[in-house]
Amino acid sequence: MRYSGGTSLCSEFITENAMFNYPVTARLCSICRNDSSNRIIQASEMMYGTKESFAYLHCAACGVVHLLDIPADMSRFYPAQSYYSFHTAGYRLRATMKRWRDTLQEGSTPAAGWIRRRLPNVALSAMTLAAPSRSTRVLDVGCGDGALLRSMALLGYKQLTGVDPLLTAASQESGIRLLKGRLDIVQGQFDLISFHHSLEHIPDQVETLRQAAERLAPGGIVLVRIPTSDSLAFTAYGPNWVQLDAPRHLYLHSHRSIAHVAAQAGLSVRELLCDSQPMQFWASDMYCAGVPLMSPAARAFKRRHLRRYREMSHWANEQLRGDQIVVTLVPA
Ligand SMILES: [Zn+2]
Repeated sequence: MRYSGGTSLCSEFITENAMFNYPVTARLCSICRNDSSNRIIQASEMMYGTKESFAYLHCAACGVVHLLDIPADMSRFYPAQSYYSFHTAGYRLRATMKRWRDTLQEGSTPAAGWIRRRLPNVALSAMTLAAPSRSTRVLDVGCGDGALLRSMALLGYKQLTGVDPLLTAASQESGIRLLKGRLDIVQGQFDLISFHHSLEHIPDQVETLRQAAERLAPGGIVLVRIPTSDSLAFTAYGPNWVQLDAPRHLYLHSHRSIAHVAAQAGLSVRELLCDSQPMQFWASDMYCAGVPLMSPAARAFKRRHLRRYREMSHWANEQLRGDQIVVTLVPA
């Protein structure tokens, strides 16, 4: 495995960082039920930096990494004042720039290409590729405050529904219906049902995908964007990999284990791509140094190796070794 720049940068990078010797456990994998040669990884809460420790199982058979014992009360790990899915608007200037980016990123002009490379909204790109028609009925599961659906409305989409248990209340605005709750409360059929970094937070993986499959209109698809354990970043950083996000991320699927749960829900993988970003490296560097993601030091870590990490992310995505996957599922 060699880096596209002609050096062995990525293999050197893994050798430098991967020094983990995880203990073996007899505990069962909750996805494939394998109980042989599974390993335990202890990871700390590092988004806010409480550094509470949580045990994850890495399955020797299907490759999933999953939280072993889910805390009875998860709400304390999603503080309403600061959890990122509900604070996407930011300052007025930043919000204006994001709207400008979202409306300009489509198209084939040089400006649109530059925006896609340097200021990507990868969630929006995945949605517009999956739903070229503006009349697509869209359901976004775990929609946060609805920022992605608002970006789609700006592009002309009119049938947009979002559902999230952490919303304070249901609401309706031009073309966008937001529901407070889980997927099981949603009625109707949809052409595109998406999970943008939400499925990994949900305890029952198969039942959730089954509920999505039941709500698909004929010809519809389920789009899952999710962190993956089949990645350069997980291999290199282990317990300090930012996307473990202990204990909020319950399941870090491998390419094989996401296909396994999809099959149990009556779905099959039509396409699997990577859309990982430089954050997989710079934020994991922060965790190696014991610095929480919410620290003011984040800006310095982000800038330190940004060019190198951007190149490595592109390379990892091309090799299907990026730490985020975009999976298109269709009825089996
Ligand atoms: Zn397994």
